[in-house]
Amino acid sequence: MSTYNPYDNVLRVVDQAAKILGYAPEDYEAIKYPERELKVSVPVNMDDGTVKVFEGFRVQHSTSRGPAKGGIRYHTSVNMDEVKALSAWMTFKCAVVNIPFGGGKGAVICDPKQLSERELNTLTRRFTAAIFPLIGPEQDIPAPDVGTNATIMAWMMDTFSIMNGHCVPGVVTGKPIELGGALGRQEATGRGVMFTVKNILNKMGIPVEGTATAIQGMGNVGSITAKLLYENNMRIVAVSDVSGGLYKESGLDIPNILKYLSEDRHHLLEDYNEDGVTHITNQELLTLNTTLLIPAALENQINENNAAQIQAKLIVEAANGPVTIEADEILSQRGITVVPDILANAGGVVVSYFEWVQNIQSVSWTENYVNEQLKEIMDKAFHGVWDISEEKQLPMRTGAYLIAVKRVIDAKKARGNWF
Ligand code: NAD
Repeated sequence: MSTYNPYDNVLRVVDQAAKILGYAPEDYEAIKYPERELKVSVPVNMDDGTVKVFEGFRVQHSTSRGPAKGGIRYHTSVNMDEVKALSAWMTFKCAVVNIPFGGGKGAVICDPKQLSERELNTLTRRFTAAIFPLIGPEQDIPAPDVGTNATIMAWMMDTFSIMNGHCVPGVVTGKPIELGGALGRQEATGRGVMFTVKNILNKMGIPVEGTATAIQGMGNVGSITAKLLYENNMRIVAVSDVSGGLYKESGLDIPNILKYLSEDRHHLLEDYNEDGVTHITNQELLTLNTTLLIPAALENQINENNAAQIQAKLIVEAANGPVTIEADEILSQRGITVVPDILANAGGVVVSYFEWVQNIQSVSWTENYVNEQLKEIMDKAFHGVWDISEEKQLPMRTGAYLIAVKRVIDAKKARGNWF
């Protein structure tokens, strides 16, 4: 079994796309390396009187096309290679939907569910102070990712503003609405996944209504995706979180599950009960006999060990990096279509871009306008990727990277390497 390194995954896909595009190695050597990598220690006074030191990271993969953009992850198993990969995926995601950002990502190794509200607040502010030299509305703009949310973005924005001596709403996106957060941002990634699902089902001649779907992950992305697909009359037969999954052949009561999860941030699906529901593991969810599978949790979920057992016809990657390169090859040989992360989950960064645009101009858009603009960008990107993939008879991931890598390399070449 190979050791999984997500950054190697990124490099192999970029290399493949650059070669197909006919670039010389010197054209794309520089984009293989993140521009900046910062590792910080974050001491926190814990509620029990001890001091605990957490490890944090901020990586800027590329600023060739604009300021670095990407979320902050709070998770126990995060590491530098993962943050490097996540920051590179942001570079190519922003390029595939053609918004003027580069890619960045940050993380703190911690379990936010084990921290009190005060500890989480202190950790966030100290981490923000530690990465302060890198971030700013024109440099690098964080946003929520796994384990973080609008409240944490508010604390980051407040810390950065205090340190600057004036209010700087544009330093982070995914903020609460009252601080300049974009209407529709919280739902944006899931809404973008919903547009993507409808587009790909349409291309594959599969009806939306009644189509059996399994979703791994019930956080921001998974829960909104589940809600919107349920509202579009899809049959959500399985969902999961870190504690395990739920299965019901006739379709789960998604509004009830979401109500249960939102009642208390400590609620987990292992304690949820509903008539006719069976409890399953995350591994069982991934290999269920459904038409559509949506991984919306973490990387490396569909890999060389379980790719041969996947029964879904179609995988839409709502998470970043849920399918490894080895799995991609197996799925492709088995005729399973994969809509890649950099396209499928780009809705979040698109509306983050709208939020940043509103913040720096001090204007405010209606939710309808945000959703319309999001749909326009997501549909255009989807059709661009679909068309090039069809034309060249390549998987959609390769098609997406052909578009994204070209935009990034051309921007980098236009700027030059200095002397
Ligand atoms: P979140 O923290 O809100 O939710 C994560 C979910 O995954 C939770 O339900 C959690 O219980 C579950 N989970 C955690 N560890 C797991 C494990 N080992 N096995 C199974 N489930 C596990 O995070 P999110 O913001 O919904 O992000 C989910 C994915 O989507 C990540 O890959 C993230 O990078 C990606 N993404 C997020 C956004 C965004 O706007 N939040 C945008 C684009 C991509």
